[in-house]
Amino acid sequence: MKNQSNMKPTRLTDSFGRVIQDLRISVTDRCNFRCFYCMPKEAMEWQPKAEILSYEEIIRLTEVFVELGITKLRVTGGEPMLRRDLETLIARLGALDQVEDLAMTTNANFLSGRAKGLREAGLKRITISLDSLTPDRFALLTGRKNFSEVLAGIDAAIEAGLSPVKVNCVVIRHINEDQVINFAEFAREKGVHVRFIEFMPLDNGKVWRRDMVVPGDELREMIHQRYPLDRVQSGNASETARRWRFADGTPGEIGFINPVTQPFCGHCSRIRLTADGMIRTCLFSAVEHNIKALLRSGASRDELIGFIVATVNQKEDRHHINDPEFIQPLRTMSCIGG
Ligand code: SAM
Ligand code: SF4
Ligand code: SF4
Repeated sequence: MKNQSNMKPTRLTDSFGRVIQDLRISVTDRCNFRCFYCMPKEAMEWQPKAEILSYEEIIRLTEVFVELGITKLRVTGGEPMLRRDLETLIARLGALDQVEDLAMTTNANFLSGRAKGLREAGLKRITISLDSLTPDRFALLTGRKNFSEVLAGIDAAIEAGLSPVKVNCVVIRHINEDQVINFAEFAREKGVHVRFIEFMPLDNGKVWRRDMVVPGDELREMIHQRYPLDRVQSGNASETARRWRFADGTPGEIGFINPVTQPFCGHCSRIRLTADGMIRTCLFSAVEHNIKALLRSGASRDELIGFIVATVNQKEDRHHINDPEFIQPLRTMSCIGG
């Protein structure tokens, strides 16, 4: 973006000194799956189309974020691949100067025929959500029978070179913890990075209970007994996953994202832009910051910069899941943009 004024952009730093470099852009609140830990089975009320940011608006805002030092972009949702012509948005985001990383999180239902095109458009990496390796359990978790489509999507992503392909698995006590070894074998067979995520209280059905959370360390011990693991030191403090490789040298990786038992808020570098144009400074924010209203009122670049800097300054120090007074946010993961 051309500098439209002399206002020198500041590097985005919050009031705790954390540098914000990572923007998650939700492009829709809609989804074709109904993962029970995210959306309710009943019909969801979607945001009216007029409330959803257009691609022009997303690009305009992202240009300003990038000027402020954002280097990592992740497109998410809802299900981002439901948004029409997503490849066009990916190409425009990828063409922004200073964007070092452009990734997407998807349920992979529509990926098999589009992975190559997304890679060609400029997508660098992909994270695919998959919580079970058997069709029946997959249906139980997602409310859908599209297991084979998702597997085909993973293969297509590998084939397209969207590497490393990451597979996110939310583990829930008594529901899918018994498949953890199968997932480790899947990582070894496919050479993908499987990352186990602790269940967070961001579900629409308000079914979360602490005893449903399976600590990542417990899973790591289970896998280590069968397939010894060695720690991978990435040197990137803001990385959410603790990473391990197979000690026998087999490709593939195992990661643990433990926001409940081992919070990593102290190194958080993330902010989120929701599909309806709100900035969220934390997954668990109680307030949202309406940048869409400012944008649609014809704000200048300097005004947008001022708004973003002031918003980031209000970023929460941490989540309060483990505090007795914890209150679950009103909006769920599918609306926030996971
Ligand atoms: N629909 C896409 C997908 O599922 O990959 C992208 C959006 S989804 C909200 C992003 C990620 O959030 C997924 O990997 C999903 O597993 C995770 N997620 C959703 N609800 C969660 C919860 N309550 N706790 C932990 N992770 C959750
Ligand atoms: Fe949809 Fe993703 Fe939420 Fe599952 S986790 S319901 S695929 S938005
Ligand atoms: Fe960052 Fe909030 Fe997640 Fe903590 S809970 S890592 S502060 S987004």
